[in-house]
Amino acid sequence: MGISSGGYVTTPPVQTTGSTSAPETLLTWQFEALGSGTNARYDAERDVILLDSRLQAVREPMLLAPLLAHEAVHRRYRSDPPRDEASLQRYVEEEMEAYRAQLDAWLQVKGSFAERYPDPAAMLNEVERDLLSDHLQLEEAMQEDESALRASRLEHYRRVMAARQNEER
Ligand SMILES: [Zn+2]
Repeated sequence: MGISSGGYVTTPPVQTTGSTSAPETLLTWQFEALGSGTNARYDAERDVILLDSRLQAVREPMLLAPLLAHEAVHRRYRSDPPRDEASLQRYVEEEMEAYRAQLDAWLQVKGSFAERYPDPAAMLNEVERDLLSDHLQLEEAMQEDESALRASRLEHYRRVMAARQNEER
């Protein structure tokens, strides 16, 4: 079964607090070379989720669903890159929300995935195995110590912000 770029209807992530839930929105994605080990990112200008071309080798949609769920969160916020400590903190909160959406999407398909692929090492190709290992690592990181993941993301984005500000200077 192959996957081509196209539309994907997301179910809004389950709200644990609050009563407003976003209506279902049509999400579009396409493959593009993203480089530097990036699997996916949301392009606000074009309102499209970009999946790295390498992922065209993925034959199993269950492996892509968590990535789309993650980027769908960024699509909801359409944040500008952080410019100061306050926007950096907000950005990291958004990133954690995206990770939780990604994890939820993975946990929703995990059982069916395990049934369909009892021997993933033998049944998946290399790109699929890499993606599976990303999902399993995220699951472990989130369940083990979410605040440690948050701290490492905060450090990462603080460095990215500093590098960008140096370039702009
Ligand atoms: Zn993200």
